Amino acid sequence: MATILPSPPKIGMVSLGCPKNLVDSERILTKLRSDGYQMSPDYAGADVVLVNTCGFLDSAKEESLEAIGEAIAENGRVIVTGCMGKEAEMIRAKFPNVLAVTGAHQYEEVVGAVHEAAPMPPSAFLNLVPESGLKLTPRHYSYLKISEGCNHRCSFCIIPSLRGDLVSRRPDAILREAEKLVAAGTRELLVISQDTSAYGVDIRHQPREWHGREVRAHMTDLARELGSLGAPDNPVWVRLHYVYPYPHVDQVVPLMAEGLVTPYLDIPFQHASPSVLKRMKRPANDAKVLERIRNWRTTAPDIAIRSTFVVGFPGETEDDFAYLMRWLEEAQLDRVGAFRFEPVEGAAANDLPDQVPESLKEERYARLMELTARISAEKLRAKVGRTLDVIIDAVDDETGGATGRSQADAPEIDGEVHLRDAGHLAQGDIIAVEIEDADEHDLFGVPVSR
Ligand code: SF4
Repeated sequence: MATILPSPPKIGMVSLGCPKNLVDSERILTKLRSDGYQMSPDYAGADVVLVNTCGFLDSAKEESLEAIGEAIAENGRVIVTGCMGKEAEMIRAKFPNVLAVTGAHQYEEVVGAVHEAAPMPPSAFLNLVPESGLKLTPRHYSYLKISEGCNHRCSFCIIPSLRGDLVSRRPDAILREAEKLVAAGTRELLVISQDTSAYGVDIRHQPREWHGREVRAHMTDLARELGSLGAPDNPVWVRLHYVYPYPHVDQVVPLMAEGLVTPYLDIPFQHASPSVLKRMKRPANDAKVLERIRNWRTTAPDIAIRSTFVVGFPGETEDDFAYLMRWLEEAQLDRVGAFRFEPVEGAAANDLPDQVPESLKEERYARLMELTARISAEKLRAKVGRTLDVIIDAVDDETGGATGRSQADAPEIDGEVHLRDAGHLAQGDIIAVEIEDADEHDLFGVPVSR
């Protein structure tokens, strides 16, 4: 029996200006073609027309405006991109019917606008890759990158020189990706970036329309919307990684109390001593962090805080280290990772005076790990007897057991929950588990009905 394939939408392209703009047009078309779109050589056959504009000279602007006008008259469904994207307001005023206006080099935005204006029909025969993209993680959890680069210049880090300053994705593009991931079976979204709290600073938190409402490019708005992607009988965990303790983090914690966002914060504090933090040039170096952690725990008592620390940073004295140990004792963080300071080629910290000898780094590392392992074990022991939500990562058919994680455990980096009598479960299930035992890292329990 013959299979009738749905026909993919056709895209028309008008490319104006210099060779750089032409290369941009080629990149956009390459992406659209790989997404399954077909090209139309004329206005009449196109489902949507892209006008890649040039704004270098007044005459070029004039030509771009004429091209937009012609595409609207001939086809009506027009997306404007390229240099004139900077003058979006003027274009919208002159041509209120344009479907979207995006700027030069904003490939993701323009491709997203095409997908919105002319969605690809779902077809296993036409789509080379699933709608949610190709993933290296299991189906039930997915990383969601919200920005690239970083505006800070921590003295031990070369990421800004490798990846540049912060560039945030549009909130609607992130939400669209997340929605597809959830539709494809994701039950846990792991929000990542170099600096999640700074999301949207570079685009002045500009709002975008998402399902009929405005969503700002801001961590709080994004977290709320991501948390709303699940349903009561099909919740989606939203886990925030690489959050720096800027003041607005306080606004995300109530979303955790409401159950919209997973009560988990991964905050790479790196140190606690003010003089070390100063030499590290760390962002959000706030003396009141301990007080804020206490407040977060009052608002969301189950919040799990994970962090990483560097020991043996140049100039770290015994007093600095003792300060860090006291701070950790007080902060009672749930999960801690530590590194001994190592120079990274090109990092400013390499030239700082008073490098700490390796043997001392080792000794401090061992002391810190001993303390944080004790705190973690105590915190896990306190969970024995409680009933926790657990997401299932793997089921062992032979033993009838399963391995999963509580909301306090991110995949790969935190602990696990080992279950007995769990052979009936499937990967990705979120179930209630009564905790029966604990060790330094992991919990042990049995599924119970809610
Ligand atoms: S450590 Fe993080 S915040 Fe600091 S410069 Fe590197 S990426 Fe940015």
